[in-house]
Amino acid sequence: MDDFNVLIIGSGPAGLFAAIWLERLGIDRIAIFDRTQYSAGGLLNDGKLNFDYRVGIDLDELQIDKKEAQDLMHEVKQVFIKFSRCQQVTFIENNEKIDAWRKIAGEHNVEFIAPEQWHYGTDNGRQFVDYLRNQLSHTTFFLGTEVISIERENERFCFVCRKDQKKGKYFGKTVLSSPGRSGAYWFRDTSRKIGVNNNFGPIDVGIRVELSRKSYDPITDVVYDPKFIFHTKRHGDRVRTFCTNPGGRVRIENYDNFKLINGDALFDRKTENTNFALINTVSLTQPFSDTTEFGRMIARQFFLLGGGRPIVQRIGDFREGKRSSQSTFNSKTRHFDRCRATYNAVPGDITLGLPARIVDNLWESLKTLDKIVPGILHPSTLLYAPEIKFFDTHFPTDRHLETNIEGIFVAGDGTGKSRGIVGAAVSGIIAATGIAGKYF
Ligand SMILES: Cc1cc2nc3c(=O)[nH]c(=O)nc-3n(C[C@H](O)[C@H](O)[C@H](O)COP(=O)(O)OP(=O)(O)OC[C@H]3O[C@@H](n4cnc5c(N)ncnc54)[C@H](O)[C@@H]3O)c2cc1C
Repeated sequence: MDDFNVLIIGSGPAGLFAAIWLERLGIDRIAIFDRTQYSAGGLLNDGKLNFDYRVGIDLDELQIDKKEAQDLMHEVKQVFIKFSRCQQVTFIENNEKIDAWRKIAGEHNVEFIAPEQWHYGTDNGRQFVDYLRNQLSHTTFFLGTEVISIERENERFCFVCRKDQKKGKYFGKTVLSSPGRSGAYWFRDTSRKIGVNNNFGPIDVGIRVELSRKSYDPITDVVYDPKFIFHTKRHGDRVRTFCTNPGGRVRIENYDNFKLINGDALFDRKTENTNFALINTVSLTQPFSDTTEFGRMIARQFFLLGGGRPIVQRIGDFREGKRSSQSTFNSKTRHFDRCRATYNAVPGDITLGLPARIVDNLWESLKTLDKIVPGILHPSTLLYAPEIKFFDTHFPTDRHLETNIEGIFVAGDGTGKSRGIVGAAVSGIIAATGIAGKYF
């Protein structure tokens, strides 16, 4: 019988850092399950690392203060920076240029956050994951193995798993669930069946902006991934820039019945463009609070409109209220050739798929951003949709991230405990420390 101390769902940063910390705390017989053939989760994506308590975590959600957050991030940083291909890209100490940008943003009532940032690039992802895995000696990986249900048998937790059409059972004293965004809804449904409490949290809906790199270099040369936070005048909503990739590429995330836009950058090979997400935080209350379904409806609408592919629109067309079309997409006369798209989305009209309030908020924020970084609204600038961040399931937990069911802990993006690699790692460490402290 396969019997372990800790059963971990997901080999992303939350699961891997949890395993590293459990081992450091003297725990053995750890099992990590991942339905993919290669352990990594989102660690194969870009690897832009923000070491700042204001980015990627919510202090209230994790029930820690600023100092604890910075201390945990410092621990995570020590692991990352020992990987030789990881390089620092934003230096915040005594950086007068950052102060100048903050001042300009402030003049437009925009909050500006410049975190200490490091980057290893999508092309170094596998090497980085191997480096992390080499730190584990008491952890067994079950790859290509999907956890399909969680049960209770003889005082143990039991994972029912599927690998190559065959089912198997694995037992454990405790569970850490860190299924990422791709496994979030499976885990939400599964956890409800076994009585784990959860509810809906906010969702981020918006677009990815891609522009000629030259237009955004003045800011990204100082802060690799600058965070601008807007509070819109018309609706009073929160919009923010997120995941900036200087010299990067637009990419897609595949889900079962829709596709989402995202972006990354390689370490060794840069493009002529920069891209970043511009997202609007949406919370729903009465009579419909299901932010997941709201986001899925938007995503499916784009899937339909784009014939299965995301949609892209030039700012030049957007301003004129026109859809973009294949025939004029790279038109020289309209100056569209200044920015060649790095992803082959379908030219169309993004306003057909997004609610009017979100379009208003995004456009107001883009116009404000253009006052801070002039030139970003060049007609050639590309707006891709949909970019949606499903961090929308909230699991009430204690300060060790244990749920209402004793022995079941949660961490990472899929359970609403983080929004990014460093945050996911931090939450994995908190859960690991909680598991070790209470059960071993
Ligand atoms: C294109 C792209 C670029 C990104 N760039 C950055 C960036 O530069 N910086 C940054 O901080 N963040 C970035 N992110 C986000 C980052 O990847 C996530 O924040 C992070 O990976 C979350 O970590 P996690 O451990 O919570 O989940 P994940 O990394 O998503 O890992 C979860 C794992 O669980 C597995 N799983 C799910 N359900 C099951 C199941 N039932 N059975 C078995 N296995 C299961 C999944 O296969 C997955 O491997 C990017 C994301 C994308 C898509």
